[in-house]
Amino acid sequence: MSTTEPSIFTRIISREIPASIVAETDRLIAFNDIAPKAPVHILVVPKTPDYANVAELAVGDPQLLAEVVNLAQQIANEHGGQYRLIFNTGEKAGQTVFHVHAHILIGDLGEDPRA
Ligand code: ADP
Repeated sequence: MSTTEPSIFTRIISREIPASIVAETDRLIAFNDIAPKAPVHILVVPKTPDYANVAELAVGDPQLLAEVVNLAQQIANEHGGQYRLIFNTGEKAGQTVFHVHAHILIGDLGEDPRA
C-alpha cells in the first residue's frame, strides 16, 4: 500500500481533476496526454496505484499488463492500428509519474531513436 500522495493519475481516475478520457474498463482508464509528443498520444493507466512501473506490474499482475496491451491495441485500431507503445521506467529514462502507464504514440513519429 502506498503512503505517498495520490498520483496525478489517481486524481484523474477519481474524477478529482479533468482529463480527456477515450476509454475505460473496470481496471483501466485511457486519456489523451496533456502534452502530446505525437499527433495521437494517449495514456493507458491501470486504476490501481499499486505498481510504479511496468516491471512491477509484470511481476504483480501479468493479466493486468495484458489488459493494458489489449486496450492499447483496441485504441490504436481506431487510428490505423500501427503505433509505438512506451513504458518509461525510472527517473533517468524520463519517468515522472510513478503510477504505471503506457504511452500510445501514433502518426508522424519521426526517427526511431534506436536507428
Ligand atoms: P514523461 O513526463 O517524461 O513523459 P512519464 O512516462 O512518467 O514521463 O509520463 C507522464 C505523462 O503524463 C507525460 O506524458 C505527461 O504529459 C502526462 N500528464 C501529466 N499530467 C497529465 C494530465 N493532467 N492529463 C494528461 N496527461 C498528463
